[in-house]
Amino acid sequence: MSAERRLAGVPASPGLAAGPARHWTAATALDAARVEPPERPAAVVEANTALQTAAAEVEALAAGLNEADAEILITGVLMAADPTLLAGVERAILDQGLSAAAAILSSTEEQAALLDSLGDEMLAARASDVRSLGHRAARLASGGSDGPASRPTEGIIVAHDLGPADVAELGTAISAIALASGGITGHAAIVARSLGIPMVVGVGAALLALPEGAEVIVDGDAGAVLADPEVGHFEAARSASAARQQATQQAKAMSSLPAVTRDGVRVVVLANVAGAAEVEAALGAGAEGVGLLRTELSFLDRSSWPTALDHRLFFEPILAPLEGRTATVRLLDFGGDKTPPFLSGQHGRGIDILLRHPGALRDQLSAMLAAGRGTHLHVLVPMVYEVRQLRAVRAALTESAAAAGVPVPLLGAMIEVPAAVTLADQVVREVDFLSIGTNDLTALQLGLDRAEPGAKPAHHPAVLRLIDTVCRAAHAVGVTVAVCGESASDPTAMPLLLGLGVDELSVGSSRVGRVRAWVRAVDHAEATALAGLALLAESAQDVEKLVEPLRTALLAS
Ligand code: PEP
Ligand code: MG
Repeated sequence: MSAERRLAGVPASPGLAAGPARHWTAATALDAARVEPPERPAAVVEANTALQTAAAEVEALAAGLNEADAEILITGVLMAADPTLLAGVERAILDQGLSAAAAILSSTEEQAALLDSLGDEMLAARASDVRSLGHRAARLASGGSDGPASRPTEGIIVAHDLGPADVAELGTAISAIALASGGITGHAAIVARSLGIPMVVGVGAALLALPEGAEVIVDGDAGAVLADPEVGHFEAARSASAARQQATQQAKAMSSLPAVTRDGVRVVVLANVAGAAEVEAALGAGAEGVGLLRTELSFLDRSSWPTALDHRLFFEPILAPLEGRTATVRLLDFGGDKTPPFLSGQHGRGIDILLRHPGALRDQLSAMLAAGRGTHLHVLVPMVYEVRQLRAVRAALTESAAAAGVPVPLLGAMIEVPAAVTLADQVVREVDFLSIGTNDLTALQLGLDRAEPGAKPAHHPAVLRLIDTVCRAAHAVGVTVAVCGESASDPTAMPLLLGLGVDELSVGSSRVGRVRAWVRAVDHAEATALAGLALLAESAQDVEKLVEPLRTALLAS
């Protein structure tokens, strides 16, 4: 008799995986960490060393910045190294019994809150630097620059909740993720899907009661975790994991084959990423570079705007491996379901919000220009709906590039609001490239909730007609068109996109190999003819019928 128990959740990233449950302890749990009395003096030394090391790391980063930015960083470092802070850390360890990491977090937070409360914008910005340095030092104090020592690096990650940045850091070495909560925002799921890691969310508290190391199955398609699985189920899930690994190996083996259609049309295949692990996976599978770096996902839990230092720490590991390649960095796309606490109640989304905070825009631009020096940097503007927004960004970009002493990067607009399509003839005159965000464009065009599973028929003729309009307007003035929404790796939509004239596809890193193989299996002339018919279809279902034979051929390629 099997004792298999099914813990139901919500599917977040497809795939089946089996392995030992590894419990993740979030960094915030450090707050509760305490040390025994005889170890306290050692904890004080540990905390001081961690703060000094973190300060030295930040100073090293500052060395690569222009004078104004470097000065800002160093001011933050000096404040964090203030004797009052060091005394506070010592008291927190000796009097309250906190661990080195917890004492650093609580004392830097105290100092940051004080700076925040003084009502001075400059000092409030320094508060964020103090917090950022505190997090860095706390991570060092608890076991190294890669995070708390308790952080698992393999197996099935089991946690209450995880942010997108956590998933990005975990990378492809883990087998799957199961979260007790986490049903609210899908952004950790975007990263998991991009990395090809199966994920189930909303499983409930029973998940956290699973013993460490217990063998479990995560079914990312059905949205369930199986505890004490039957042998047959366990073996099936293990084979699925092995097949996924084999597909990754195959993509690597084919990475040097060109992405050219059967009739000789070259298609640029780039990757959508939010962290360094995705960059590594994408380049290994033959991506030519990054077509969409989502920059906001790492800052969704923030209580203030990310500082230039925060951005620099985020960009460095992602952009370094992209030297000599395309690195398309999207400006912060806050708003909607990506609203961090400090923006709660603000209206608008994407560039609309950012333009109301010019200092925040400057901080992000200067950090990306510094960290992206060796790359072919492209700057992408989210949720554009009128040309005024693009002109404002170009002015800020030109100014920041002059201050950094680097050439002005290419500027592109995301086409994801139907208004930008209506005004496409104006938009194309302001940019060097376009990238169509079919996730938002489809939802906004069809009045659907993009969070709803399956609610993204980008192959609906009403969406295809928008894409057609954009391609025509862009190509009339020699501007390239990319698609970075999920449709670029959908076997129904992808050939239609090529047929409509899309030049570049940017896809989740785990799908790069597959999409490159599909490009080689497509005949561009056939895709163009199909796209022409699809534009005249009356529904998404009609389009599906049209594309079915080609879709089947692609899936078999
Ligand atoms: C899109 O809307 O298609 C897109 C790529 O942007 P995001 O999914 O980050 O909103
Ligand atoms: Mg979007």
